Amino acid sequence: MSTWRNWAGTESATGLEVLRPSSVDEVAAAVKVAAEQGKRLKAVGAGHSFTGCSVPEQVMVRLDRLASITSADSVSGKVTLGAGTGLAKLNAGLTSFDLAMANLGDIDKQTISGAISTGTHGTGAKLGGLATQIVGLELVTADGSVLNCSAEENADVFNAARVSVGALGVITALTLQTVPAFLLRAQEMPLPLGEVLTGFNELADGNDHFEFYWFPHTEIALTKRNNRVAPGVGPSPVGRIRGWVDDELLSNRVFELTNRLSVRRPGLVRRINRLASRALSAREYVDSSYKVFCSERNVVFRESEYAVPREHVVEVVRQLRAWIDRSGERIPFPIEVRVAAADDIWLSTAYGRDTAYVAIHQYHRLPHDKYFDAFEQIVAPFGARPHWGKLHKLGAEQLRERYPRFDDFLAVRDRLDPQRVFGNPYTRQVFGA
Ligand SMILES: Cc1cc2nc3c(=O)[nH]c(=O)nc-3n(C[C@H](O)[C@H](O)[C@H](O)COP(=O)(O)OP(=O)(O)OC[C@H]3O[C@@H](n4cnc5c(N)ncnc54)[C@H](O)[C@@H]3O)c2cc1C
Repeated sequence: MSTWRNWAGTESATGLEVLRPSSVDEVAAAVKVAAEQGKRLKAVGAGHSFTGCSVPEQVMVRLDRLASITSADSVSGKVTLGAGTGLAKLNAGLTSFDLAMANLGDIDKQTISGAISTGTHGTGAKLGGLATQIVGLELVTADGSVLNCSAEENADVFNAARVSVGALGVITALTLQTVPAFLLRAQEMPLPLGEVLTGFNELADGNDHFEFYWFPHTEIALTKRNNRVAPGVGPSPVGRIRGWVDDELLSNRVFELTNRLSVRRPGLVRRINRLASRALSAREYVDSSYKVFCSERNVVFRESEYAVPREHVVEVVRQLRAWIDRSGERIPFPIEVRVAAADDIWLSTAYGRDTAYVAIHQYHRLPHDKYFDAFEQIVAPFGARPHWGKLHKLGAEQLRERYPRFDDFLAVRDRLDPQRVFGNPYTRQVFGA
């Protein structure tokens, strides 16, 4: 028997039966037994979701024994790996085959199957999230059978299972379409928020990966442009001392202290944010793609993120800003804006439309409800879709309106898991009983 809690400390569970299978057959047997005993079973990743999507109720399955690359073809770029593989290990492993993921999110602490299951994404106007880089899945379903799916085989399950919030079965292996390893030139610079919003489309379309962080209560946005370098350009990583000062000291240690100060002295937040936005000054460096995409996030926070049709993102940020100014709330954490190309995965937040993501954060020792609720109200008229792993309060009826293939997904779930072996309170909230 054991306990589980997520990274953010928003969800926990006790009294669990914990299984660590080391083969697909062991997973299948475990699922079969749980189903026969009428128990609910949940596969967990690294616990980096803020929502209760991975909360186990009775049987918790960890896939840390199915956690390595099992085959890689440097020519086709197809790589097969165990579902429990962590992204950091995956990135390092791909490097040894001179391969890389085409796009990644901000951190590398998640497992690959946990990341795809909630629609984890990075930024890039012509690129999709991690699940769009999957070309095959091996899934253990509720009756203990093993289903292989891809665009050619069990295509409806493939469309549903790439982003499935753990509700269709236990993913045991995945095949990725990777790309040849590449270097990115990172250009980071603070700019006036007004300038960033006015030029948002040019910035998003004119860079391989564009994002910005706006510090509430200030006029400053920290912009990040990451672009592939021309052939022949070598790495020039950020210096060790500068890297430590920017990424460890300012982004983590000092940030933790300023957040603690914000709890005690909310009146100082405006000034702290101004200082923080200026402290992170312009820098440029060239490094391996995954080192540029991913960084350390050690200050614990709560997050909500909504995907909106890209053409509405500037309006959303303007309304959010107006609300923050009106409300008197003090928010020490920046707001992050990213983009992604439309894709065809039924529950992907970017399904069928070019998308922009607006992510809001709050320090874990500060209340977030009022802020996050207001955000949810602001984005609602834009048909916004919540990140499945980040805080929101929507239920199945509202989500059905925002996902054209929602009922197709539910039909696959009814077929694969009629007894809801893979259900938990979160799946009941977002998909219904
Ligand atoms: C500091 C931080 C930074 C983040 N940055 C980003 C970012 O840049 N972009 C972004 O989009 N998100 C980001 N996230 C959110 C995070 O990527 C997602 O919540 C992700 O799902 C977490 O992966 P995990 O391995 O921790 O999975 P968990 O949170 O443990 O599980 C997520 C879901 O996957 C299911 N699951 C896990 N393994 C399996 C399996 N083998 N078979 C079937 N289902 C399975 C679980 O049941 C659950 O429903 C961030 C989160 C944190 C805390």
